[in-house]
Amino acid sequence: MKIYNTMSGKKEELKTINEGEVKIYACGPTVYNYIHIGNARPICVFDILRRYLEYRGYKVTYVQNFTDIDDKIIKKANEENSDYKTVSEKFIEEYKTDSKGLNVREATIHPKATENIQQMIDMVKKLEEKGYAYSTEYGDVYFRTNKFREYGKLSHQPLEDLEAGARIQIGDTKENPMDFALWKGAKEGEPYWESPWGKGRPGWHIECSCMAKRYLGDTIDIHCGGQDLIFPHHENEIAQSECSNGVTFANYWMHNGYINVDNKKMSKSLGNFFTVRDVAEQFGYEPIRYLMISSHYRSPINYSIDIIKQCKSALDRLYNCRQDLAFLADSSTGEFKEGEQEIKDKLLTHKDDFISSMEDDLNTADAISALFELARDINSSINAQTKPSKELCDFALNLYDELSGVLGLLYEQKDSEVKDSVQELIDRRTQARKDKNWAEADKIRNELAEMGITIKDTPNGTIVVTE
Ligand SMILES: [Zn+2]
Repeated sequence: MKIYNTMSGKKEELKTINEGEVKIYACGPTVYNYIHIGNARPICVFDILRRYLEYRGYKVTYVQNFTDIDDKIIKKANEENSDYKTVSEKFIEEYKTDSKGLNVREATIHPKATENIQQMIDMVKKLEEKGYAYSTEYGDVYFRTNKFREYGKLSHQPLEDLEAGARIQIGDTKENPMDFALWKGAKEGEPYWESPWGKGRPGWHIECSCMAKRYLGDTIDIHCGGQDLIFPHHENEIAQSECSNGVTFANYWMHNGYINVDNKKMSKSLGNFFTVRDVAEQFGYEPIRYLMISSHYRSPINYSIDIIKQCKSALDRLYNCRQDLAFLADSSTGEFKEGEQEIKDKLLTHKDDFISSMEDDLNTADAISALFELARDINSSINAQTKPSKELCDFALNLYDELSGVLGLLYEQKDSEVKDSVQELIDRRTQARKDKNWAEADKIRNELAEMGITIKDTPNGTIVVTE
């Protein structure tokens, strides 16, 4: 598989540290609020990376942290007269509800920052011993950026350029404006932990360096996150990890692009800020997942109500194909018939296209096109035929589920199960009417009404009336 590595600025063949294994670290959410649709993108995209690597036979260890102590969490807790733990625990649960709705699998490990404080203190101590960190009279500890010559290598900005753009704030005790906090001395009323530098709490960047080291080792295969994290967050993670461990931190860096709303940058002040929960309540979760993977992960994407509706109808087309096929697979019989081998071969070409798209830097946009091509051929060569063999139907159904499963799509099977049982009732009623069994027909009509389904008899048969 080829992966675009932000570090080299090129697509590179994936070579893992251990054969057949991939160690992935993904920066997780700061849990103080509901996630917005921009947050949904890395969650969905890197879930697919993991699914695809597993599909190709790799054993994947996927670590995603929860930042459960941070300025924003403390602020929220103060506003609500609560404490940081109550706030973070609540929003970890809300995060889990949303990611489950988006069909994102739980990480192998979901460590929390506050469960790794000792590891962070140890790493900061090590950086201090090696001369990469210094403490100030207020109990803060900073990373000494100009001691790490490679600082800026991920974002491709030399330290001198960064320094030229930075300003020393009034009251700053840093040696250099680019130095960043590893440990923050506690202010009055803030939560704190005891440390060699007094009462305080970790800076944000240090947690990822420590959790990656603890759960995956000094060098990991793939580090991923949103493009907005390249600088300074990931740059700082590299500085901390490489200076304390003395080896390369991550071999591949993958970053997803931005999301705009109605072609504008999403922001609370523009009033175009949408949480995943809001959108899901109106349209369901799956169209959001579909939107996130309908473009290549590095391209920017645009969100609008119209686009999410288009995603929903695209999904409906995929579901309809599957539903028709599943119905045929149930009712058909027999082994491959004459001419069906060619159909099978044709369907398999879409699998080849699907895989080659995914191999090319996780091109989910092209992979979805391959899935639609497969659906088109299933519709024309199987669903529209009078008596396809059971073997062909089963083969096509398995292939369809295999490829949609790699993308984590078509997981709302409940919906189609409901549709199936509705169809079954309508069929039974049609038969009852043919048999002039009006009592039975009325009984079924009432049963459907209780399910909230209104039907109408037309010359072409019975249809479901949608409001
Ligand atoms: Zn991180």
